[in-house]
Amino acid sequence: MANTLRFRCYRCIHCCFFVSIDEMPIILEDELQNLKLKADEYGINLNITKLCEGFYKLVIYGFCPFYDIQGRRCRIHEVKPLSCRIYPLLINLKTKDIHVSLACDWVIENLDRLTSHDIDVEEVFRYEVENIKILYKKILNYIHH
Ligand code: SF4
Ligand code: SF4
Repeated sequence: MANTLRFRCYRCIHCCFFVSIDEMPIILEDELQNLKLKADEYGINLNITKLCEGFYKLVIYGFCPFYDIQGRRCRIHEVKPLSCRIYPLLINLKTKDIHVSLACDWVIENLDRLTSHDIDVEEVFRYEVENIKILYKKILNYIHH
């Protein structure tokens, strides 16, 4: 059977609401400036902590300040961090392993099909995988500088 499964965000709000530091978005050095400009535009005080050279974390408890709760959308879609663009895929910065988040409603609903052998996961998450590739290149860049 042809692989017709495609990830489609349900806009269920889960991924823009944070309770633990592990889930909070990682920000790359070159993403900081745009985020700060957007924060100024929206009158938001960002809480950003440095993880290591080139990598930061947006510290958020509850809804992301960039999230439009009523409209159920990210207000900074065009400049949102790569770590948000790859979701529901997740990357472990230490091991570089990629896995699929089990906190995503769409993933849970489609878990049986996602784990079946006839599914090409790269095709299912085509947009997210493109962004994973960009993220990998940037991570390697930071590591080699
Ligand atoms: S930047 Fe946008 S996509 Fe990322 S957590 Fe905030 S609202 Fe969600
Ligand atoms: S948890 Fe999944 S379905 Fe819900 S808003 Fe996030 S990406 Fe979309």
